[in-house]
Amino acid sequence: MPLHIVDHPLVHDALATLRDKRTGPDRFRRTANRISLLLAAEALRDIPTRTSSVETPLGPAPACLIGADLVVVPVLRAGLGMLDAVLELVPGARVGHIGLQRDEITAIASRYYTKFPPGLAGSHVLIIDPMLATGGSAVAGIRLLREAGARDILVVCIVAAPEGVALVEREFPDVDIYTPVVDQGLNEHKFIVPGLGDFGDRLYGTTQVDG
Ligand code: URA
Repeated sequence: MPLHIVDHPLVHDALATLRDKRTGPDRFRRTANRISLLLAAEALRDIPTRTSSVETPLGPAPACLIGADLVVVPVLRAGLGMLDAVLELVPGARVGHIGLQRDEITAIASRYYTKFPPGLAGSHVLIIDPMLATGGSAVAGIRLLREAGARDILVVCIVAAPEGVALVEREFPDVDIYTPVVDQGLNEHKFIVPGLGDFGDRLYGTTQVDG
């Protein structure tokens, strides 16, 4: 089943803060980091591990270590709000970037930047893109990563729309999606309803103020 709903009270509590229109950029950033830690931990539940041992002050103990090369790929710019959380969990992760610009009218994503670490074929790749709206950015990102050799890819988002989930499932049925929620749908501007507004604008305080 490619869609994984992360149903944890701490996740839902953080999501409520992110959705709240009174939450300013400072709190929004901290909460985005908190929810991303929880989501990424769940998405990485099946990351390959290797057994080892460590010396405690009282003697040897078995150890279970991360046994995969993790590559995390934020979709710019909103995905950057989730990056620190993943690096906190897996400090040795390598980072790729995908810059996709969403056309304000058509909502079609066009690429302006990509930079991936080499050797993706053997890596565990985590795309972080907080709003899975039309699915256009996620699908474009997955396609670019596949062209670069990546096989094992997951998408982690904070709010999804049914349209975005359906598109990813149709185009890449082998890519798992982790999200706390699938909202009602998209409005005429391709924003998720009820969603939380423009994630990047709320993260960076670039929201238009009337008057
Ligand atoms: N991107 C956002 O930031 N919000 C949406 O609702 C859809 C896309």
